Amino acid sequence: MSASNALVIAVDGPAGSGKSSVCRGVATKLGMRYLDTGAMYRAMTVAVLAAGVDVADEAAVEALAEHTSITCGTDPSAPEVWLDGRDVAESIRGLEVTAAVSAVSAVQGVRRRLVEIQRSQVQAARHAEVGIVVEGRDIGTVVVPEADLKIYLVADPAVRAQRRALENGAGKPPEPESVAATHEALLKRDAYDAGRDISPLAQADDARVVDTTDFTLIEVVEQVCALAAGVQR
Ligand code: C5P
Repeated sequence: MSASNALVIAVDGPAGSGKSSVCRGVATKLGMRYLDTGAMYRAMTVAVLAAGVDVADEAAVEALAEHTSITCGTDPSAPEVWLDGRDVAESIRGLEVTAAVSAVSAVQGVRRRLVEIQRSQVQAARHAEVGIVVEGRDIGTVVVPEADLKIYLVADPAVRAQRRALENGAGKPPEPESVAATHEALLKRDAYDAGRDISPLAQADDARVVDTTDFTLIEVVEQVCALAAGVQR
């Protein structure tokens, strides 16, 4: 096992900046685990919507969160997430979930519960002496402030919208209206995530900023791997 395998890498950034693809690429290349914390907030949102709870009713969302079990896999080649034992990897990507997830993730009780699970996954990786790449909005600032390497991924909003619209259309070239709508939804979600009181989307003071706008996925993965190789422990 190389030293870089046992690193904890925290990757934060706004929606569509390329976090998931980059983190999975880096984890695969370096033989590390991978944790998608956004998938956990999305799974909690699936539970809230399925229960018919109003996402604006914080107390009701918090009460539901207390009795909801969320488990996340850490294999970068097959990210999995379960809600009360049910595989929800597909349903968490629905547009209704995407529209509601920021409100659910702003609830303190939801964050308390999910951050505890996220920290235990990091702890398990440390115990097993394998590294882990963790992606989210508050990983370098709140979840693992002691991470060995912190990356803050950014990209031009127009490019982020184009990528997301392409994903939503399952690879088909998106219509300009769909890119425009995605652009608006993305900026709205970023503003909500960055503006909330608890654990907002933020760049840690010691994070390295990587701008993915003009680079291919392979190039960004290489840049992050090069930063990981330079970490002094
Ligand atoms: O990364 P993804 O777009 O799947 O995240 C979905 C949402 O989950 C974000 O918009 C944000 O509201 C929330 N989130 C969060 N903290 C994290 C990860 C995601 O609040 N660490």
